[in-house]
Amino acid sequence: MQVDISELRREVGARKAFSFCGPLEDGFPAGISLAGPVEVEGTVLNTGPAYLVEGSIRAQVEAVCSRCLTPFRQVVEAPLREEFREGSPPPPGQDEVSEDSGVEVWFFQGDVMDLSEAVRQNLILALPTQPLCRPDCPGLCPVCGRRLDEGACDCRVEDVDPRLEGLRRFLNPKE
Ligand SMILES: [Zn+2]
Ligand SMILES: [Zn+2]
Repeated sequence: MQVDISELRREVGARKAFSFCGPLEDGFPAGISLAGPVEVEGTVLNTGPAYLVEGSIRAQVEAVCSRCLTPFRQVVEAPLREEFREGSPPPPGQDEVSEDSGVEVWFFQGDVMDLSEAVRQNLILALPTQPLCRPDCPGLCPVCGRRLDEGACDCRVEDVDPRLEGLRRFLNPKE
């Protein structure tokens, strides 16, 4: 995911559109992985001191539902807004933050900016922390483990009032 900015150098305010569709290095949180190529489109703007990248990211991910543990696929969309500056990056731990936009500054050398890592980080920020196969997933039966969206099981999930426990035993002597 590289953009050649050589044609933007001469003029502050020059802008260039880009789009990519390709794989991305993994490193996603456990339980989530890419299910296909990542689509990125946007523009690079020469702001004078830096190059501002603005665009959007779209990817299909495979996740495991946090309630029913079923794998499912979901489209994740994330905004992309990053500032790139020419030069060497500062030492680790001293990340520079842009005074204009407040975002972290990325550094590049030569004519080509590599957006891959910025795309990856923005995508990770947009991933669900508790993936759900659907918003109202009923989850699993706590007794038999059956997926409750396939139908109710025969398990009795009871929350018996302890004061009534004696009465229940009296009415169900076989238990
Ligand atoms: Zn589910
Ligand atoms: Zn059950």
